[in-house]
Amino acid sequence: MRWIHGVAVGALSLALAACTTSPTGRSQLTLMSDEQLDQMGAQAFDQYQQERPTVGGAAYRQVQCVTEAIVRSLPPQAREGGWQVKVFEDDSANAFALPGGYVGVNTGLLDIAENQDQLAAVIGHEIGHVLAHHANERASTQSATNLGLSVLSSAAGLEGAGGEQVMAAMGLGAQYGILLPFSRRHESEADVIGLQLMAEAGFDPRASVALWQNMSAAGGGQPPEWMSTHPSHGQRIAGLEAQIPEVLPRFEQARQAGRTPSCGR
Ligand SMILES: [Zn+2]
Repeated sequence: MRWIHGVAVGALSLALAACTTSPTGRSQLTLMSDEQLDQMGAQAFDQYQQERPTVGGAAYRQVQCVTEAIVRSLPPQAREGGWQVKVFEDDSANAFALPGGYVGVNTGLLDIAENQDQLAAVIGHEIGHVLAHHANERASTQSATNLGLSVLSSAAGLEGAGGEQVMAAMGLGAQYGILLPFSRRHESEADVIGLQLMAEAGFDPRASVALWQNMSAAGGGQPPEWMSTHPSHGQRIAGLEAQIPEVLPRFEQARQAGRTPSCGR
């Protein structure tokens, strides 16, 4: 039975090596490389564009302006390579950001986000998912579950191949769908990071509450499809309200430092 022991230790050390810490200090399992995630992001962004028309004009300029202001305040490694922005002609109130530096906003969301600060709340939240490696963590957790089963059923084969083959199996991560909804834990974490990002960029974090109130009113009690696993509007608003006193000083400092974005529509 020695070979099973060998594989178990191998899988464990792989997991430990891939254990990272999210921006809020939570430890997480991230088995895929940044390159793999960036590639998945690029593919998903391409595919999304093939399925809907993009729009330019004032809507695009506003989304671009808000994204640029947020990206300017990111750590250097997160700014590297720049961020691409697209606005999609689509009535559903959806927005996303993807690893590799992609931001997509539907026109339906722009009907709900009434001003630059509300839009910054959405874009900050979405970029928060990327900074916290949530897509990697989601796919890794699923892979680890699958891997656990395959270690039991074909341990000898995996042992012979070593880590590379295991990582190749992880590369199938694209099948998990990088655009799937996130868990509640990921949502709350992205809310916290999003507030910090918007405040740092000089957007008023209090606008996040108004945004979610609008979202709630527009949905007629029914959350839009992309939020189906999201916390309820009430829980989310309560969470944001609790965090706002902590980020308000950052917002005030940003304004004093001259970070006063002007992204009208
Ligand atoms: Zn989210």
